[in-house]
Amino acid sequence: TPEPALRPDPLPEDNDRALRPQALDEFIGQAEARANLKVFIQSARQRGEAMDHTLFHGPPGLGKTTLAQIMARELGVNFRMTSGPVLAKAGDLAAILTNLEARDVLFIDEIHRLNPAVEEVLYPALEDYELDLVIGEGPAARTVRIELQPFTLVGATTRLGLLTTPLRDRFGIPTRLQFYTVDELNEIVTRNARLLGAPADPEGAREIAKRSRGTPRIAGRLLRRVVDFAVVEGNGRVTQAIADHALTRLGVDHLGLDGADRRYLRLIAENYGGGPVGIETMSAALSESRDALEEVIEPFLLQQGLIQRTPRGRMLAAKAWRHLGLDAPKAPGQ
Ligand code: ADP
Repeated sequence: TPEPALRPDPLPEDNDRALRPQALDEFIGQAEARANLKVFIQSARQRGEAMDHTLFHGPPGLGKTTLAQIMARELGVNFRMTSGPVLAKAGDLAAILTNLEARDVLFIDEIHRLNPAVEEVLYPALEDYELDLVIGEGPAARTVRIELQPFTLVGATTRLGLLTTPLRDRFGIPTRLQFYTVDELNEIVTRNARLLGAPADPEGAREIAKRSRGTPRIAGRLLRRVVDFAVVEGNGRVTQAIADHALTRLGVDHLGLDGADRRYLRLIAENYGGGPVGIETMSAALSESRDALEEVIEPFLLQQGLIQRTPRGRMLAAKAWRHLGLDAPKAPGQ
């Protein structure tokens, strides 16, 4: 099944440096976030200080890592990267923090998954650039304070709600990333096609943009697959006909929904009369983790107005019934 290829989790192919925008001015979309970052970066540079800690939140594949790398480059400092689940012990974080140079950017992906013991160490580091480390055990244990270089923490999370309040409060620059418009994705696809050496017709690029779930990572992945079809079954050009053919073969429909999205919608329609149905029930019935449903599948369906979240569970909207080609049940008494 083609589904895993369409999910916006990082795959090795995403490490393709050639496609990653390198500067704020090359970064397409997220206009508001970009304009603000530009000011904060310039101010930090002029004052010669570390930029304030920054938190990026939003669905996967929207450019959180890319923006963090761009920040480091524009600040003229080193970029260090780790992630919440990787930092198992306080010492793991201490080792990274003590190796930072002045004003460096430390990027922590999935920061909502930090172990509480590690998070405790992070607080004084963020606030006062200090580490309190416990050395030894039992009665001989003592605390030593280590001074750190001033640095910028850039945190990324798909689940703002799972961050503890004290951690959240320590970010001076919280930034929400939005799904991209078709026009923005169109620009990204056109640029990437050029960089991949596979020219795209305007209609071909737009077809991919329209079916990329508002997400640059998905646009990049779909473009590569369309290029494969263009090379093997066409003349190497990304035309609308080739794009439509390839995306249909990959199970991506006209709204950009893939098999997992449609399974989600059909479950509510066919087994629960359109809802409401609780998230735990959905998770069990689809054999998908609740996190995957909430982080990856639902944000786009909500943004498209295909589902609604109510206190009693998820409900299909009229647009979803039409999309599935089904009649919505009549309300009782009609
Ligand atoms: P996140 O950290 O939010 O999951 P990434 O920063 O890893 O997302 O971006 C995913 C992919 O999408 C990368 O390959 C990146 O090059 C590309 N990408 C993200 N934002 C943009 C953009 N604004 N313009 C062009 N490519 C982008």
